Amino acid sequence: MWMRRFLIIGAVVVVAVAISVALWAGQRLADVPSLDVHTVPFPESDAGLVLADPSRLRITFLGATTLLFDDGETAFLTDGFFSRPSFSEVVLSPLEPDIEEIARVLERLGVERLEAVIPLHAHYDHAMDASSVAELTEARVIGSESVTNVARGHPLPERQIQLIEDGETIALGRFRLTFIESLHAPGDRAPGVITEPLKSPSHATRFRTGTVYSMLVEHEGRRVLVHSSAGFLPGNLADHQADVVYLSIGDLGTQGASYREAYWDEVVAAVGARRVVLTHWDNLFLRLDDRLQPAPRLYQDHKPAMESLYALKLRDGVELRLRGCSSRPIRSSACPTNRRRMRTKTTSNRSASRCRTCATANSGWATTPWPIHRLTSR
Ligand SMILES: [Zn+2]
Repeated sequence: MWMRRFLIIGAVVVVAVAISVALWAGQRLADVPSLDVHTVPFPESDAGLVLADPSRLRITFLGATTLLFDDGETAFLTDGFFSRPSFSEVVLSPLEPDIEEIARVLERLGVERLEAVIPLHAHYDHAMDASSVAELTEARVIGSESVTNVARGHPLPERQIQLIEDGETIALGRFRLTFIESLHAPGDRAPGVITEPLKSPSHATRFRTGTVYSMLVEHEGRRVLVHSSAGFLPGNLADHQADVVYLSIGDLGTQGASYREAYWDEVVAAVGARRVVLTHWDNLFLRLDDRLQPAPRLYQDHKPAMESLYALKLRDGVELRLRGCSSRPIRSSACPTNRRRMRTKTTSNRSASRCRTCATANSGWATTPWPIHRLTSR
């Protein structure tokens, strides 16, 4: 009798624990970090964003650390990651570029020809799609040994593959790009180097990091640093200057506060940047759509990182921007930036509350419902 009672109690306990774990995991998965609260101190209505001639240099943020640079004559992409397979696909199956999705995104961006696609390290969410993008746009894939081996395995013709080394500077039209070796964020899920052509499809863990580069983009006196992973090599950026840093915060939330401060000091403060645009905060398991969603907290907890970055931006008087985030659309009747009344503005297929002042100030991108974030950089 006691044995039966013991088994029943045991079973009840097991079921209760299982339900609790499932509820906890479900809640954490659905729970997206409240990044939008941090957009309040980052004014969207900065008049400095509006260029006298917005056609001259456009930088479009397309999720993860994919950025489209375009000056009207020359265009290139970092990473060019558009397939964005789901979490279960990444975990369970070998990955390959989704050609239809890549073509859809490029068409929607109006990109027909690119000079280059530049994955800044070789993880799948940076390097997997580069060769497919290159095939569709006649671009070269430029990158480390590991990146070039992903391209060779695709296979992309050798004439479309270019290896770069630490410290090298290349010219693309009026752009000058300098590659500076960096490190991946701690907790690298696929460390190592790809020493042979990587056949497609391949599991995510076979897209090994290789050399991680920070890329300095110079264009007619403007300097933009693209930093694709939340790691650093102490002192490596000390001899460089940039006005704007596109700063990856992927995996930054799980590091300690002292690490986050060192990251800021070694990247943002080292180059003397006055503006920081955050990248790699979105849920990269979702397709690229009108709006980016922050990564679920179970996968990436950005809150501690945002708290540190906010304190550091105040300390150094640096402007911090987070664009395209939609975890909590602005619902109040007052614009957080300037406290004026908002009006409802209808875009192509949805209606969104948007402050007229902000929309006007950000005319470079706010009047375009897609792509997500079009920042015209000075
Ligand atoms: Zn990575």
